Amino acid sequence: MTPLLGIESVLLAALIVAAFDPPGHFFFEVRFRVSQLVDPALHRERGESQRCAFCNYRGKLTSEHIWPERFQTLFPELKMVKVQHGDPRSPLEFDAMAFTGKVRIDCDRCNNIKLETIERAAMPHIKFLALAIHAGVLPFDAQRKLAAFGVRMLAVGQYTHTQLRPIPRHHREHLVLNRSPHQHTEVSLWAYYGPNFQAPQVRGIPQKVMLPGERSPDWINAYRGIVRIGHLVIEVAGRTDGRPVVFLPKPPGTFVRIWPIDLRGPQVWAPNKSMTEVGWEQRVADLDRAITL
Ligand SMILES: [Zn+2]
Repeated sequence: MTPLLGIESVLLAALIVAAFDPPGHFFFEVRFRVSQLVDPALHRERGESQRCAFCNYRGKLTSEHIWPERFQTLFPELKMVKVQHGDPRSPLEFDAMAFTGKVRIDCDRCNNIKLETIERAAMPHIKFLALAIHAGVLPFDAQRKLAAFGVRMLAVGQYTHTQLRPIPRHHREHLVLNRSPHQHTEVSLWAYYGPNFQAPQVRGIPQKVMLPGERSPDWINAYRGIVRIGHLVIEVAGRTDGRPVVFLPKPPGTFVRIWPIDLRGPQVWAPNKSMTEVGWEQRVADLDRAITL
């Protein structure tokens, strides 16, 4: 039995942190229940009242699991966990059953068919990587499925925050329509061996990016996010202004980029160098900074 399944753990359900908001503005104010962390109907996106977050449906919405229910099978020893929200510098914490948090954001079809398909397709690969099974390649189809799942985690997790929506509608609709990230999104995988590998996390932020020669954008034009599941880290960066750009810092040989798919050859797991606790903290700290390349 792997220690991943035997250690009492902490679940950080979702931390959505804004680079441009002052500290202390990260907490949602509604009274929450474990089964309904945030009701986006109380914190609507403009023009989005009673509208599915992933398609054009308007009407009755359903409760989407922030973490897929299958994680209860993947992590059977995780029963009661600590859930943390908001600004990591002064987080709001409470105890909850693992992987039971929901947000009422999508229609029945997106919840139970489209996102369900993305989750089910990725799960065998996630299990393989989360348990740090070292030998193996990631076939192209597996890369697409894992990349889609990483974006799915950020897109759903962002609704645990009252206002911040780093993954915009057109990227969300593209996800469910194509079961793949938007073509202006980049997804990389890391192997993580820090002490907190048994603490699943998802964090995401909106960002501004500009390439040399571009003028500073007047609005948020990108997002970054990071998901940790066991020994697997999925890092996502997307540009939302129509420009194709890859902007995750990439020291050579340190991790595996799976999206856009590099068709020159399947990717090998684990990456040559793994992420330490220091490396993890640095990547998370990077989320707080806007990037100019
Ligand atoms: Zn829908």
